[in-house]
Amino acid sequence: VQFDYVIVGAGSAGAVVASRLSEDRSVSVCLIEAGPPDKNPAIHIPMGLALMGRMPAINWNYQTEPQTALNGRRLYWPRGKTLGGSSAINAMCYIRGTAQNYDAWDAAGATGWNWQTARAYFRKSEDNERGADAWHGVGGPLSVSDLRHVNPLSAAFVAAAQGLQIPSNADFNGAAQEGLGLYQVTQRNGKRCSSATAFLSPDVRARANLTILTHAKALRLDIVDGRATTVVTRIAQHGVSSLTATREIILCGGTINSPQLLMLSGIGTARHLTALGLPVHADLPGVGQNLQDHLDGTLSYTSRTSHAYGLSMRGLFRQALSPLDYLVRRRGMLSSNVAEAGGFLKSSPDRPLPDIQFHFLPAILEDHGRTFVPGHGCTLHACNLYPESRGEILLASPDPDAMPAVDPRYLEHEADWAAMVAGLKLGRQIMESPVFERFGLHEIRPGRDTCDEAELRAFLRERAESIYHPVGTCRMGETDDAMSVVHQTYG
Ligand SMILES: Cc1cc2nc3c(=O)[nH]c(=O)nc-3n(C[C@H](O)[C@H](O)[C@H](O)COP(=O)(O)OP(=O)(O)OC[C@H]3O[C@@H](n4cnc5c(N)ncnc54)[C@H](O)[C@@H]3O)c2cc1C
Repeated sequence: VQFDYVIVGAGSAGAVVASRLSEDRSVSVCLIEAGPPDKNPAIHIPMGLALMGRMPAINWNYQTEPQTALNGRRLYWPRGKTLGGSSAINAMCYIRGTAQNYDAWDAAGATGWNWQTARAYFRKSEDNERGADAWHGVGGPLSVSDLRHVNPLSAAFVAAAQGLQIPSNADFNGAAQEGLGLYQVTQRNGKRCSSATAFLSPDVRARANLTILTHAKALRLDIVDGRATTVVTRIAQHGVSSLTATREIILCGGTINSPQLLMLSGIGTARHLTALGLPVHADLPGVGQNLQDHLDGTLSYTSRTSHAYGLSMRGLFRQALSPLDYLVRRRGMLSSNVAEAGGFLKSSPDRPLPDIQFHFLPAILEDHGRTFVPGHGCTLHACNLYPESRGEILLASPDPDAMPAVDPRYLEHEADWAAMVAGLKLGRQIMESPVFERFGLHEIRPGRDTCDEAELRAFLRERAESIYHPVGTCRMGETDDAMSVVHQTYG
């Protein structure tokens, strides 16, 4: 079967690319997605995200290699596997990064990815319910909303800023990122607005020039005379098909799958491919390298009151009407993304940009929500936004169904410890604000006697987890950059 474009992966990126390319009715586009259609109600009801770790049909459920700095633990890496990809299972916090982040990309060789250019596309994509301004757009496919339900604990978290001389911030995607505030969320009328909801709306899905195949997994690319021509794809109930692209194959499988597919196709470090018995079409050493992720330390609290989301007799009474409220008005706790509040702070005043991001959850979260904890409480997550440690993704086997070896090498670089420890210390200062007094919080983890640098480091080794932002394995750059995988033809 032949198309002009074949796009692998219908996630955050793939849904957008398929939608934009197929606006031109003279080209044919095929979008393939390994997972099922996005029909599961837990995708669309925001609080359903609490169940995502238990849904293997729509979650790749990756595990990292044992991490030396984290007591040899393997960390859990969820990734979405359905139309919308990870945007169908994520926490919906609408965060774009700072202008300086984009300008730094441009300067590092990703020519054209500067803030001025990126901002135009963000504004074009966006339908922000607060209206348009220099930073935000209206009328685009991606709905961005204020939360329709704010837990009193989340409101207290934001209020804590005042007593601590920390700025409050009503828009993390505006003029400044620093401060504490409530997140805006990718939601429309109280429902999740994944990239599939936004960019693959029913009228886009109905376009005659767009073919969307679900349960269709790319196994490898066929390469003829140095050019990738065909995506060899296994389609459920059909077997293996060859999808040929006359113009371009566009890989949107995400940080783990895109380098995996390149390596399975003979594009990667020659030595690694040869060792696995794979052919070498291009010796491209950057494939799978440069892996970076946001590592996260969490402070956990129980509360005396039942305001927080959780299960108890008192809580049931308080929450009894919330399903009805959601059904009738699309409001109430079921419309919550749980990670309602957060913020960006500097680990030390000499940092040019905030390097710690907080996610405040008015719920006790244990093992990514996969372990049920009765009762009420809250958790404050603090992650390091600018890690120096770099890891890699390699094939563990030439079998396309085998998980690749994902090794982020967390905290291998000594500099990364400072932000992690500072995140816990700053977080604790916020959580000890008098605004929380009425909830009767008690720190259960790490526990108030875990204070000094060595104790906090030991706690992080034992408990730190990913906050799910791995990037970097198909790095953009100039043609003379040996480690770049995607070269610029922009502009
Ligand atoms: C639990 C969680 C919470 C998060 N919370 C937030 C948040 O609140 N805010 C935020 O900004 N970011 C958040 N993120 C991160 C964000 O969702 C991701 O960075 C983003 O969705 C990645 O987009 P992508 O297009 O690179 O990959 P994905 O969206 O993961 O898309 C990749 C797609 O490709 C498909 N695919 C892969 N391999 C193949 C193959 N061989 N054949 C066919 N299809 C394939 C996958 O099934 C998937 O649908 C979160 C992520 C997770 C997992």
